[in-house]
Amino acid sequence: MLERLDALYELGDKIGYSPAEDEAHRLARRWMEEAGLAVEVDDAGNLLGGSGRDDDVWVGSHLDSVPAGGKYDGMLGVVAGIEAVERAGRGTAIAFRDEERGCAGSRARAASGRLPRRYLELHIEQGPVLLESGRPLAVVTAITGIARGELVTAGRAGHAGTVPMAGRADALVDAAELVLRIRDVAAGIDGAVATVGRVDVHPGALNVIPDRVAVSIDARAPDAARFQQLVDALGFEPTYRVEPVAMAPSVQSALRAAIEARGLPVAELASGAGHDAGILAAAGVESGMLFVRSGNGGVSHHPDEHTSDEDVALAVDVLADALTRI
Ligand SMILES: [Zn+2]
Repeated sequence: MLERLDALYELGDKIGYSPAEDEAHRLARRWMEEAGLAVEVDDAGNLLGGSGRDDDVWVGSHLDSVPAGGKYDGMLGVVAGIEAVERAGRGTAIAFRDEERGCAGSRARAASGRLPRRYLELHIEQGPVLLESGRPLAVVTAITGIARGELVTAGRAGHAGTVPMAGRADALVDAAELVLRIRDVAAGIDGAVATVGRVDVHPGALNVIPDRVAVSIDARAPDAARFQQLVDALGFEPTYRVEPVAMAPSVQSALRAAIEARGLPVAELASGAGHDAGILAAAGVESGMLFVRSGNGGVSHHPDEHTSDEDVALAVDVLADALTRI
């Protein structure tokens, strides 16, 4: 498995449907064939390897990457899926296409209606929570909803030198207070996060008091109630909105049992990032995810992304065991 991760990483950037992602799928196809799985490629280019037993239980992830990404995001879930299906002798290993730019592969598959009964995905956490709590694995409880949009502050333009400070209507000063309010609103709702990643200042000149500022918002929360509470409290109209989705209790309990069988503590986490499992869950598939600890401070979408060999081995053991339990 570690050699396979190296081989995939050596392909460099694997943007969805690029020649490099094609090559990654060719490698995975070979590994599936070596594992004795019956290979099929669907209309969207998703790669499936069926064991012939309980083929309606899928295990996998994606092989594409962000530019200058890491070695584990997505790739780990695919190589582990092939390994788990081979070990368990049941289920179907799957590699979805083009996840990073909006889950094109799993969305296309969901739209086609040809879906499994259950779906299981191993993924790196891509954050610092497990690392900081000293636990290697977590059962994912939900995939957070995402709302994006902007808030605008309005002021009055004027000469930067001649208008006294008293009586100014500076839209950027108001925007600064707004950014702090956005932080405080999210911090006040358990499990919620909100980020201002872009500020557009008009007219954007060094010597003009700003009269209009657009502040971007990316807001996320793990369940419907808190998601709506967050959007309402921020007071914006999302232009992009994906509802939170819960992971299936049946798959969560199989993962929990497999972790407990190894005498390990069972951590639970909501995923702040989107995943193929969220697309399948929203389409009605009983879905679940296993998170494995990210090293190097939890960094991801970066070449420093790392998960230890020991944690990889442990995660695959739990994944294969859970596959026998669902
Ligand atoms: Zn991923």
